[in-house]
Amino acid sequence: MSDITIALSKGRIYEDTVPFLKAAGIVAQDDPDASRKLIIATNQPQVRLIMVRATDVPTYVQYGAADLGVAGKDVLLEHGGAGLYQPLDLKIARCRMMVAVRNDFDYAATVFQGARLRVATKYVKTARDHFAAKGMHVDLIKLYGSMELAPLVGLADAIVDLVSTGSTLKANQLQAVEEIMPISARLIVNQAALKLKNNTIQPLLEAFSAAIPANL
Ligand code: ATP
Ligand code: MG
Repeated sequence: MSDITIALSKGRIYEDTVPFLKAAGIVAQDDPDASRKLIIATNQPQVRLIMVRATDVPTYVQYGAADLGVAGKDVLLEHGGAGLYQPLDLKIARCRMMVAVRNDFDYAATVFQGARLRVATKYVKTARDHFAAKGMHVDLIKLYGSMELAPLVGLADAIVDLVSTGSTLKANQLQAVEEIMPISARLIVNQAALKLKNNTIQPLLEAFSAAIPANL
């Protein structure tokens, strides 16, 4: 059996990945959400977890610093997916990538008139591709968080952000006007590791696959 490093991020990705690890017989020896440790040992001496920012998971796996990881489709689209094999949609951390505007902003009229739209987002690549496919001219403004604020203070007309219940939009007098795509988290594997450590990785993939919730 080869040594295996799995990259995860704290919070919902870790919490939602625990059942998949358990299905593969892997149990963390510390709770990453409570511990300050960045490298977490497991009950299996050959398997360790590393805790990184959600947006950094594909990078660690791409360069082989981790063999496997779990990352949202939002993060994978921005990363581009180079060097990654994406064998499984785990159907966890589900939400939707949406375009949202202030309640008093007439998005349909802006689109119809072909007016230039100012869009603030963390997801610049996804937003650029979406509006280009619609033939819309947009100015993109890169933000790192709290996108909801941008339309309220005149930084942008619209935002592209993840929406689950919509309560954050509602609390800020914003509304979703367009769905870009459904989002969920995927298992990602370093392409070289998949070949070199196949004997160890293949059973992990099978255990993860069998643990994907049905009918979703
Ligand atoms: P931070 O919140 O620390 O700035 P982050 O937003 O990158 O970092 P999380 O909030 O843990 O990290 O999100 C991780 C992943 O979970 C996202 O990449 C996305 O795929 C998914 N996600 C984000 N928001 C939601 C949500 N409201 N509901 C379900 N899944 C979500
Ligand atoms: Mg977040």
